[in-house]
Amino acid sequence: MQIGIPAETLAGETRVAATPETVKKFAALGCEVLVQAGAGLASSATDAAYEAAGAKVVATAADALANADFVLKVAAPTAEEAALMKQGATVLAAFAPHANPHFDAYAARGLTCVAMELIPRITRAQSSDILSSQANLAGYKAVLLAANEYAGLFPMMMTAAGTIKPARIVVLGVGVAGLQAIATGKRLGAVVEASDLRPAAKEQVESLGGRWLDVPMSDEEKAKALGTGGYAWQPSPEYIRDQAAVVDKAVSQANIVITTAQIPGRKAPVLVKAETVAKMKPGSVIIDMAVGSGGNVEGSAPDQTVVTENGVRIVGISNIPALVATEASALYARNLLNFLAPMHDKESGRIVLNREDDMVKPTLVVDSGTVIYKKPN
Ligand code: NAD
Repeated sequence: MQIGIPAETLAGETRVAATPETVKKFAALGCEVLVQAGAGLASSATDAAYEAAGAKVVATAADALANADFVLKVAAPTAEEAALMKQGATVLAAFAPHANPHFDAYAARGLTCVAMELIPRITRAQSSDILSSQANLAGYKAVLLAANEYAGLFPMMMTAAGTIKPARIVVLGVGVAGLQAIATGKRLGAVVEASDLRPAAKEQVESLGGRWLDVPMSDEEKAKALGTGGYAWQPSPEYIRDQAAVVDKAVSQANIVITTAQIPGRKAPVLVKAETVAKMKPGSVIIDMAVGSGGNVEGSAPDQTVVTENGVRIVGISNIPALVATEASALYARNLLNFLAPMHDKESGRIVLNREDDMVKPTLVVDSGTVIYKKPN
């Protein structure tokens, strides 16, 4: 059976869905892997490295896709890319199903589309969890981006000419990206404060040496938060009001703000108001990691650095993992391998999607040409 790896076509997408390391493992399973020439270059993977790993490097996307039973991609295929695929092929990608306009094109081709971002957060699925692997790297990179944009330094420094105070970082949203941002900020010597509407995040923030920004919660809200099994809950107007006050106080004194709060499939909550940004010191930096899903910060814009009247730089990069493409591709490619390899059938030598598997079932947005994805309410 064939696996096709086309070069990514989305502007700014530097990652690739298979690396020489994963190609070698697919080849060892008996798969023939076709990689489009140059597909891995922006992720430091040369055509020669793919060939050495057992892939066949082909000139065009059409060559890589025409006979592929499985197609591995980072971004969702466009309608044009889907038209190059074999009828009935299975495609693994981050399909962004809530905002994807190409489902009819996938259906017309009889494709089966596996939206890797819909993998459930169960223990067994952790090694295939693309949201976690990419958010982790993005959280790290966001802090480095902030350090670059910031006119000051992060650590306290005692010099002969006097002492420099450490930078104050506020992290809003303490999931995978937020935790890595806290750890990275601490490693660079900053003072870090953080908040999340999941009370369980408090212990994690403190274990990394951060200070928890507490938003008062009623008993009813605490019960609601527990009831979601550790995931974000729908905050009440009272919580939103109290949170805004806590955020306003902390952010107006911060040098760096990193926001990561997202709600899968929905618009991100606005956590930092323009009036709060207006109170920040000139030269402060905000990295809005949720800018691709509407943004956590009033005034942020996708793929732009907005400089406010009071000299605050609001950085909105919609694809931070693409800025660390080598490692992001390595982890993403392993996520896909970890997902597919257990479904390899030794006897037939084929990978057979197990549609009843509780890890696979929620990811199927199009199955053999039938669109089955339903937008969350
Ligand atoms: P995410 O990217 O969806 O959101 C980032 C954070 O923002 C989350 O912690 C969320 O609670 C928070 N947030 C959302 N709305 C908010 C608001 N209005 N105000 C303040 N904070 C808000 O999150 P994620 O990184 O994907 O992680 C979500 C949860 O899933 C976490 O509890 C994480 O530990 C858990 N998780 C579990 C597994 C697993 O078990 N396999 C894997 C990854 C993540």
